[in-house]
Amino acid sequence: MEYGRDFDFSRPFFDQFADLLRVVPHSALAILGDNENSDYTNDNYKSKNCYLIFDGEQAESCYHGETFVNIKNSLDFLFLNDSEQCYQCTVCHNCYNLKYSQFSQNCSDSWFLKDCIGVRNSFGCINLRNKEYYIFNEPHTKESYEAFIQAFKSSSHAQVLAMQKKVNDFFATQPLRAIRGIQNQNVVGDNLNNCKNAYECYDGYDLQDCRYCTDCLMGAKDCLDVHVWGDGMENCYNSLLVGASIRNIMSSIYVIKGCSDVAYSLWCLQNSQDLLGCVSLRHKQYCILNKQYSKEDYFDLRAKIVEHMKKTGEWGQFFPIQKSFFGYNETIANEYYPLTKNEALKQGWTWSDYEVSVQAERVIPASRLPDDINDIPNDILNWAIECEATGKPFKVIAQELKFYRDHHLPIPRRHPDVRHADRLALKNPYHLVEINCHNCQKEVQTSHPNPKEKVIFCDDCYYKLVN
Ligand SMILES: [Zn+2]
Repeated sequence: MEYGRDFDFSRPFFDQFADLLRVVPHSALAILGDNENSDYTNDNYKSKNCYLIFDGEQAESCYHGETFVNIKNSLDFLFLNDSEQCYQCTVCHNCYNLKYSQFSQNCSDSWFLKDCIGVRNSFGCINLRNKEYYIFNEPHTKESYEAFIQAFKSSSHAQVLAMQKKVNDFFATQPLRAIRGIQNQNVVGDNLNNCKNAYECYDGYDLQDCRYCTDCLMGAKDCLDVHVWGDGMENCYNSLLVGASIRNIMSSIYVIKGCSDVAYSLWCLQNSQDLLGCVSLRHKQYCILNKQYSKEDYFDLRAKIVEHMKKTGEWGQFFPIQKSFFGYNETIANEYYPLTKNEALKQGWTWSDYEVSVQAERVIPASRLPDDINDIPNDILNWAIECEATGKPFKVIAQELKFYRDHHLPIPRRHPDVRHADRLALKNPYHLVEINCHNCQKEVQTSHPNPKEKVIFCDDCYYKLVN
């Protein structure tokens, strides 16, 4: 509140907000608390013994991943919920001991699954429901399945690579469901579960009457244009990273934990209400640009500022990208809408040339690593590995090495950022196109890129296939 200031009707709102934003001290990390022994993580809540994980809550002994809820002992993941002992899983829910899998739910003790539900002890399968002992979608006896697993030398990098190729070749011959999701009613979008009346939403759970919401995995109602979060979120608009029992939030970032009736504010929490243009406030009410007003004065001034912002064209808009602290390339916008430096600068947006400088005395190129995890000595912890794709050095930590050994997995040859990009590439874009069902020719929408090169089924044909 020390930084509070009067509103100046001779200037645009966003300029005044940016001035405030640049003088109020900020928390270095978006760590919401109850984190234990989890350095090098950000945007987390309730994580314990974790390393390089981002955007999620409740994780224990997890490393290298993004976007999660309630996970344990997992490594290298993207969109992982309610799961344990998972490795290289992308968009998986309620899974246990799953490796190299995608878009699967309620599955366990399996390798290389895609679009499976309720599958156990299986390998290289796609589009299966409630099956056990399947290999490349063919049924096996328990004994022959176990013999196959014995013969697969998962500890060898070369063997995993060869198997991954075989699996991908097999998957490419199988139909894909046009849109992914279960238990939805009247929805348009992709990766939606248990949603009702959701339009153009992607990666959402328990959404009701929402539009243009993305990555809201913990439930939302009556929301429009929100990226990330939920968990008791009602009537929010045009906001980013908002959630935990909030309502009536507009054009804000990180307004969380019991806040209501907040607009154009950033990092305000703990039951704050009736705020406009505020930064880093807690337990506050009737504030504009971090200055305290009486209830009557607040509503009177707020109405005038809204009128002013309507005249300047700012009301209803999100914060201009030019006011961001971050270069375009440092934000996740660049993951979904990638631009080159020149393209970003041409728009008048910022770009960061910051490069992490890594000091490593001993560097080993990935190609020179022993092929098998059994031949990797503990001394690898004292070396930097040079990424096979980018040449960027990275390290393996002791907990990771133990995970690879316990699960008979090779150590990675690629930098964590590259592994993240590889997983992200498995997801479809936030964009739908019209195609005809490969089977019945009915017109359907799909988010699969290059749909004409794939076998894509409508829901009716897909259900007949899988059941
Ligand atoms: Zn069809």
